[in-house]
Amino acid sequence: MALSGLDIFKLLPKTNCGECKLPTCLAFAMKLAGGQAKLEECPYVSDEAKEALSEAAAPPVRGVVVGQGAREFKTGEELVLFRHEKRFVNPTGMGVMITTDMSDDEIAAKVEEANKDSWERVGQQLELKLLAVKCTGDPGKFKDLLTRVAGMTELALMPMADNADCLKAAVEVVGDRNPLLYCATPENIDAVGAIAKEAGSPLVLKAEGLDALAELSEKATGMELKDLILDPGTRNLKDTMEALVAMRRAALNQKFKPFGFPIITLPCEETDDSYFEAASAGVYVAKYSDIVVCSEPAAWMQYPLQVEIQNIYTDPQKPMAVDSKFYEIGSPGKDSPVMVTTNFSLTYFIVSGEVEASKVDAWLGIVDSEGQSVLTAWAAGKFVPDVIAKFINTSGIADKVDHRKLIIPGYVAQISGELDEELPDWEIMVGPREAADISTYLRNYVQAG
Ligand code: SF4
Repeated sequence: MALSGLDIFKLLPKTNCGECKLPTCLAFAMKLAGGQAKLEECPYVSDEAKEALSEAAAPPVRGVVVGQGAREFKTGEELVLFRHEKRFVNPTGMGVMITTDMSDDEIAAKVEEANKDSWERVGQQLELKLLAVKCTGDPGKFKDLLTRVAGMTELALMPMADNADCLKAAVEVVGDRNPLLYCATPENIDAVGAIAKEAGSPLVLKAEGLDALAELSEKATGMELKDLILDPGTRNLKDTMEALVAMRRAALNQKFKPFGFPIITLPCEETDDSYFEAASAGVYVAKYSDIVVCSEPAAWMQYPLQVEIQNIYTDPQKPMAVDSKFYEIGSPGKDSPVMVTTNFSLTYFIVSGEVEASKVDAWLGIVDSEGQSVLTAWAAGKFVPDVIAKFINTSGIADKVDHRKLIIPGYVAQISGELDEELPDWEIMVGPREAADISTYLRNYVQAG
């Protein structure tokens, strides 16, 4: 059972020194109990107290690192069932499977496409994380394939085999890349658990039915295996969905330790219909799969899932924002138009996209509006004449252009008079209300000279 805030408080030094950046030890204890503080933030916790507190300090779902180097990723550490309670922590890691019975050309094409699966969206890089390599028969072929694939990609690897000898061979080939070994079952846990323990690799546990999986998880932790990931063994949407919800509820609500690990799903093994597979993957991303392995690296399948992950794992209480500064769209010069808008990411990316599409080089000024869109920021007093004037006066834009014309969004036309007074050297021009009209507006602006 997790300790309460008061239980934790009893174990703290009670000096209220404030070094943890909280005013009292009680405040720190409450935050620790709620998973909002880390034990290391108090430098004065005794070793005995540390041991007693480690349970309370650990997230109910263990964090597990897979892979190594630039492409390693962390999964798990989730604290809540719903994103409105608190931000989800580690975004779902998407993977793609290749198998030993695929042709060399098919494997090469899939690995090449998986390597390219990386998209920038609203200032974040969305990437595929994992390449699963499955042995469908010949262990020699499996070892050769793993060797070849390891040379073709830096993605984290998941060797998949149902016998210990194949996984032992996998560790010989890619053990230095912290592979995710798949999988230990009730039948092979002794042998496969020993391989994972010796290699120090994370390990997937798979069993048919949640009771068997809980038992397997207890056995694995009894072998002092810590970095575990759970596969409920179900291979259809309804059963997998039920298992995901039951496991995560048990881990978070009942603090049921055997299920306190990240979960993996393999929709690629549930159906031959790739559209249904993509839809199932979307469901598993939403609840509560920490790793999802699909058959296709193709963008039509991966990109929508990455966008879903990005939307779910951003902090709903914190709008996404870009840095406040002047951005060069194209190659703007001394005569190029000067525009301003707010620093809400979507506003920036939509406006900059429309300016780019207009083929008119421009200076786009992004005012710090705490990540709010134009009208919301105006209503909240974050995109108002004195704030915009201060931004213009401190941005250095006056040295970059010869003219003094400033285009503001049409939605805040009402501030143009007051902004005129704040920026007496500038002519305030009201731009279009809708981003879709920016292109026409800028072309007319250039033609009018
Ligand atoms: S740093 Fe430790 S001792 Fe100091 S106030 Fe925080 S919890 Fe208490």
